[in-house]
Amino acid sequence: MNTTQKSVISSLAADRLSSGASFCPQCGKYVKQHTKHKKRFCSDRCRMKCWNSHPDLIRRMAYYSITCQNCGAEFRFYGNAHRKFCCRSCYDAYRKKGQHHDE
Ligand SMILES: [Zn+2]
Ligand SMILES: [Zn+2]
Repeated sequence: MNTTQKSVISSLAADRLSSGASFCPQCGKYVKQHTKHKKRFCSDRCRMKCWNSHPDLIRRMAYYSITCQNCGAEFRFYGNAHRKFCCRSCYDAYRKKGQHHDE
């Protein structure tokens, strides 16, 4: 592929983006954009399908593997790498422990 071909393709991609049209990466269907928030998939079904067939993609996107500071259990949490506890009761228990040590 020479540079001219490359620039043609990238300008085509830019056209698609600027017109607000996009295509479902799972089934290739045209995805209508209703809102400002850009949809990538035509439906939840396609989104799930794609994620199921690319588990590495999900991990890269937003799943963090976190070890609970209280019980030591390893858990996965979506979207927030700063979480420290697997559940609310571990959070409470850890805080209580902390207070106990302070006394
Ligand atoms: Zn689709
Ligand atoms: Zn825990």
